[in-house]
Amino acid sequence: MIRLHNVERSYPLGRGQLFYVLRDIDLDIAAGDFVSVMGPSGAGKSTLLHILGMHDHGWTGEYFFDETAVHHLKSKERATLRNEQVGFVFQQYHLLDDLTVYENLDIPLSYRHYSKSERAALVADALDRFQIVGKKDLYPRQLSGGQQQLVGVARAIIASPKLLLADEPTGNLHSSQGEEIMELFRKLNEEGMTIVRRKMRRSENGSCSCVTAGSSEGNDSVILWSFDIRTSSFVL
Ligand code: ADP
Repeated sequence: MIRLHNVERSYPLGRGQLFYVLRDIDLDIAAGDFVSVMGPSGAGKSTLLHILGMHDHGWTGEYFFDETAVHHLKSKERATLRNEQVGFVFQQYHLLDDLTVYENLDIPLSYRHYSKSERAALVADALDRFQIVGKKDLYPRQLSGGQQQLVGVARAIIASPKLLLADEPTGNLHSSQGEEIMELFRKLNEEGMTIVRRKMRRSENGSCSCVTAGSSEGNDSVILWSFDIRTSSFVL
């Protein structure tokens, strides 16, 4: 479903030099996969998610989403593809504070071609499915972190995207709430949703000054590694 070939992302360092965050990334993700992107802080996990989510345009290489060559799309076409096919879940939830749960769920539908009654039916389904009917008129601040993330996941999938990207979705939650959200992801994946999530390693200290050197694929994980220029060693 997703194929990256020789994808690279760099930032200018000055004096014509480049800092490579991602270099020569080849990646295949099949429909129905549940992929965890792991690696130390600064390895490029978020950068990779931003590229997959078609938010970032400053990369080079090839990116195929199904048969669509994303690297050939104009920015407006990428935005359309993203709105139709990609759902996002964020560590900080990013719900709109001055909108109710119901209104937050309706927002992604307003970007798509649904009639008013279709939108109402989809929001009602999502409220029902995620067991948050009783919360529909509440504002995000009136919900616990776990409930806010539940709304975040419901919002991400309400328009049936093909790809769900999750940036540290349980990072702000207590362990039991986090486990509930992970269970929800597992369920969505069993139902066929393709999921790519960024997974932080608890042991990472984020202190290395790194140049990302590449990636390797496991069964269901992408490990990004970094090269620590102070110790001349790879950091995993
Ligand atoms: P991770 O998610 O693995 O912690 P990121 O993808 O957020 O890593 O960042 C990877 C590297 O890219 C970091 O070293 C970061 O400093 C660098 N980086 C990200 N955005 C920019 C930017 N706009 N300009 C320069 N460097 C950046």
